[in-house]
Amino acid sequence: MARIVYLNGDYLPETEARVSIFDRGFLMADAVYEVTSVLGGKLIDFDGHMARLARSLGELDMANPLTQETWLEIHRELLRRNDISDGGVYLQVTRGAPNDRDFVFPDPEKIPQTVVLFTQSKPGLIDSPSAKTGIRVISIPDIRWGRRDIKTVQLLYPSMGKMMAKAAGCDDAWLVEDGFVTEGSSNNAYIVKDGKIITRDLSRDILHGITRAAVLRFARESQMEVEERPFTIAEAQAADEAFITSATMFVTPVIEIDGTAIGTGTPGNVAPRLRAIYFEESLKTGI
Ligand code: PLP
Repeated sequence: MARIVYLNGDYLPETEARVSIFDRGFLMADAVYEVTSVLGGKLIDFDGHMARLARSLGELDMANPLTQETWLEIHRELLRRNDISDGGVYLQVTRGAPNDRDFVFPDPEKIPQTVVLFTQSKPGLIDSPSAKTGIRVISIPDIRWGRRDIKTVQLLYPSMGKMMAKAAGCDDAWLVEDGFVTEGSSNNAYIVKDGKIITRDLSRDILHGITRAAVLRFARESQMEVEERPFTIAEAQAADEAFITSATMFVTPVIEIDGTAIGTGTPGNVAPRLRAIYFEESLKTGI
């Protein structure tokens, strides 16, 4: 059965959804996106993802094409039509398709934005093998643009980073700028030392992860100590634990960085505990 996707007001089989070759998402990466995870048919941290979407659009002088209620309606309708229990919903808004290529933004009064949503089914997402084994990462220079706080579809370098990791026999890459880790290629990065959770503070240098916000809140509520500051690869290699967070990986342990085992080289206590708390709490508020 073909997946049903949403395109500019219509629900269509994926094979029939068509976007213009002049779409600025395609030609200029002039687009923002969100990914909301789905567990047991519920959207996790939906309000957070919608708030970040609004912020990303605003930072790029794009209007939010739909209301929060309509976004929710579309998400739910796609889950229903595609019978999704576990997985995610991807959404993308582009500045639309003028009738030619031009660096200048088109007039938003004349050119409607392109809105695309589709589901991804991932049965058993909670019990993914990497959560039990942990993942191995390499470090690479962070050569992305200076507005990483905006969730744009410019994902070529993160994609290259994953390929570099794969070529090195690892799972992912941590990005390093001026000697400090910014974040993972598609996730936020953390270390744990003497029970304290350390992760880079929010700025334009990293994406403000929705999972990050939730996990740090739950950690503080559970009396765990949190310090938001940059750390180096050497500090990470000497840490007791390391982990990442994202809407698709939740909390996933990191067991090796650039060939050096972290702690015992197996997932420690803090990351699995935070993962369990994250599921428990966010399932309560899933909609
Ligand atoms: N950092 C980057 C660069 C990302 O691409 C992502 C997710 O795609 C994250 C962090 C994690 O954000 P979230 O927890 O909202 O998925």
